[in-house]
Amino acid sequence: MTDGSQNIQVVLKSRPDGWIDEKNFAVRAAPMPILADGQVLTRNLYLSCDPYLRGLMDGAATYQPGQDLEKPIRARVVAEVLESRRPGHRAGDLVWGFLGWELHSLVPETETLYPVDPSLGPISHFISILGMPGLTAYVGMLEIGAPRPDETVFVSAAAGAVGQIAGQLARLHGARVLGSAGSAAKVAYLSDDLHFDAAFNYKTETDITAALARHCPNGIDVYFENVGGKTLDAVLSHVNPHARIAVCGMISQYNAAQPEPIFNLGKIVRNRVKMQGFVVGEHLAKLPEFTQRMSAWMGEGRIRYREDIIDGIENIPRAFVGMFKGDNIGKRLVRVAPDPPVGQ
Ligand code: NDP
Repeated sequence: MTDGSQNIQVVLKSRPDGWIDEKNFAVRAAPMPILADGQVLTRNLYLSCDPYLRGLMDGAATYQPGQDLEKPIRARVVAEVLESRRPGHRAGDLVWGFLGWELHSLVPETETLYPVDPSLGPISHFISILGMPGLTAYVGMLEIGAPRPDETVFVSAAAGAVGQIAGQLARLHGARVLGSAGSAAKVAYLSDDLHFDAAFNYKTETDITAALARHCPNGIDVYFENVGGKTLDAVLSHVNPHARIAVCGMISQYNAAQPEPIFNLGKIVRNRVKMQGFVVGEHLAKLPEFTQRMSAWMGEGRIRYREDIIDGIENIPRAFVGMFKGDNIGKRLVRVAPDPPVGQ
């Protein structure tokens, strides 16, 4: 933290070679940005750690531009407007947007800032359950997976930011839900707190195919894919005719030097399986409606959510790297300033 006279930024110092490492980042002091017409200066409050950022750190553009070296990591941030020279934004407004891993951001005219409404939930939720991770689960589960009552739904990385919502949405629609995660504490969270019908620790299973056979005696109708690799291969050996696989992500491959082969793809043809990838950024128009619906479900106690918040900008490299080792339960965020008083 600073006295406000200087900025602190977390930049990408070097490109990862396989596994991301804290050494790939540097935490640096920088001059406070100075506003020009059309720009907004923010005081950042919550910075998001997201798995997709790992891919951008290799430098090549995917559906987003690659991450530049020596620049703050571009990520979703909840912030308070400090100064504005842009019509529509005033000092004190709460917003979220694609800003940076830094204490203050100078937001260019071209960058959209989205409203944060504290009456709908904690402000951090606008980059977690009420924001893009929530919308990701909603689009992937309800539009692509489209579970029907009594169908069997499997969610991997089920105790994470997206997975915990995907599983609960399927339960809300009457499906039987199984989740996998990488620790006993996560499995207990899924079973005891979120009331998944079953959950298992994939790290202590010697054979994921056998674990799925045990937990899904009637096969799998919907798979919400977060991890790829061996888990996907095991799922393919259990898919029912006309199963749907919503391909959200494949985190097991993001730090891998070589992609893992998949052997059971023939099952997609034989069982007429729909397997569809999607990126949440193409569904942003649904965000206002989604935020209202999800806030109502949470208010009624029908959906619960856990965030995993770490304090201090200097801790963000550790927080980010740790996420790939599974040390987060729920949405990993880094808080860099206290919430402004409500009703300010
Ligand atoms: P999470 O909060 O789920 O954090 C990542 C988790 O992934 C870790 O906690 C860890 O949990 C698990 N994990 C890490 N390595 C492995 C591995 N080798 N095998 C299995 N699990 C692993 O992150 P998110 O919810 O933000 O993201 C989940 C997935 O959704 C990612 O693949 C991400 O890229 C994708 N995503 C896609 C979006 C889209 O628009 N398509 C938008 C947002 C996210 P554990 O202890 O269980 O191993």
